[in-house]
Amino acid sequence: MSHTRKTERLTQFTDLGLAKPLLKALADEGYTQPTPIQAQAIPGVMAGKDLLGIAQTGTGKTAAFALPILHRLADDRRPAPRRSARVLVLAPTRELATQIGESFKAYGKHMGVSVAVIFGGVKHGPQMRALAGGVDVLVATPGRLLDHLSEKSMTLEGVEIFVLDEADQMLDMGFIVPIRRIVRYVPKARQNLFFSATMPKEIETLAGEILNPNPLKVSVTPQATTVERINQRVLFVEQQRKRALLAELFDDASFKRVIVFTRTKRGADRVARGLEQVGVDAAAIHGDKSQGQRERALAAFKAGEVRALVATDIAARGIDIDAVSHVVQFELPNVPEAYVHRIGRTARAGADGSAVAFCADDERGLLKDIEKVTRQRIPSFDRRNDRQLGAATAALPEPAGKAERPERGQGRPQGRPQGKAEGKSQPHRGGHAPKRNRSHAGGGGGQRAEGAPPRPAGGKPAFKGAGRNRNRSGGDRSSGASGVWSNR
Ligand code: AMP
Repeated sequence: MSHTRKTERLTQFTDLGLAKPLLKALADEGYTQPTPIQAQAIPGVMAGKDLLGIAQTGTGKTAAFALPILHRLADDRRPAPRRSARVLVLAPTRELATQIGESFKAYGKHMGVSVAVIFGGVKHGPQMRALAGGVDVLVATPGRLLDHLSEKSMTLEGVEIFVLDEADQMLDMGFIVPIRRIVRYVPKARQNLFFSATMPKEIETLAGEILNPNPLKVSVTPQATTVERINQRVLFVEQQRKRALLAELFDDASFKRVIVFTRTKRGADRVARGLEQVGVDAAAIHGDKSQGQRERALAAFKAGEVRALVATDIAARGIDIDAVSHVVQFELPNVPEAYVHRIGRTARAGADGSAVAFCADDERGLLKDIEKVTRQRIPSFDRRNDRQLGAATAALPEPAGKAERPERGQGRPQGRPQGKAEGKSQPHRGGHAPKRNRSHAGGGGGQRAEGAPPRPAGGKPAFKGAGRNRNRSGGDRSSGASGVWSNR
């Protein structure tokens, strides 16, 4: 810590020239030192430069754009144009959109900035009303925004700053065409901030279309750094004993606030139920849950009312909860990068964290891929044929709905042949939940079951042109579920 300060003398928020109300808000949050992406991005963005940021959540990227944007708004206090916004932020999921909106609100709280968030799956009316008078900052998911634009219930003519967050995720979710359409509604003379965790070709092309020439480029290398800070281990275990192993982990009181990842939505429900059955308060979030249910689950988890939040990758993406003590991967993800995203839910904001991954025999190939991508060897412990675990499994209450039977993508993994159980000759026992249903879902597997291309964001179908009600999972009426809030 101290050496960072020595080598980067400028890295105090007070050194960056941010407007006073922002410094006050930062002090309220307890933030004194900018993270690397903030230190690198804020001065340039404050000066009006475009930015290409290669960073993922957990690096402090939200504040890296929110702070200089708010500074610019504070510097030039003209009223927001009617039915429009001065700043437009696009985010792939409603959870992330909501979080970004909350960040703007928190950092802008001493400067009276107006913020609205809109996303799909909920009524249009309240969103239109919130936008009627114009807002300083509008955070939106692409599909719903496009609906409003095609209905002409709002315009983007007043947009001065355009932010595209998690561009690679947008690509995965089929949002690239909607984004291109949205960009056509935004004035050409504008400042652009473009963020992506990775830079596949399509994203590079998109960045080239959106950004002005010679943007400021900031790349933080969170993969290695995040990974390094997290105390990781892999537990080899039979698929059908994972439930007992999970219960065993929760016997340890240090497992205070734990996110458990599953590949599938049904798997998430099942694991949450299994935890409840052994007396661990748990809530599941995934794309089949209504907006209200998700919000309640998140709130309960944040408040410490439930120890375990069981989530699919997509549902957990972008969720920013401080003080997650552990991340448990009930199944390994099919995509190695998802491993990094998952463990990044702990060790937020410079804290350390712990991550435990369960690995059944037929997941060994996935583990190898993960170790290759993260360039590390994850310490492993073999809990196969563990008598205690066998007894614990036998003693577990019968799960509601056959806990260990692999459903699409669960318990069955990777898109490539697994072969034998690496090196260690370990007796194969009956009852593995294995191999067979490798066929459907191919390499995408359970990862795909919740989230990958054709069915994004928690079961939402990929955006296909206009049309409403495409988001079946929302539409409920709980607080905040209007799909819009504004701090006006
Ligand atoms: P993000 O990458 O934007 O999702 O931010 C990750 C987490 O870091 C969030 O909980 C932020 O509130 C927190 N954070 C952002 N900037 C700082 C900072 N300079 N100091 C401490 N925490 C921060």
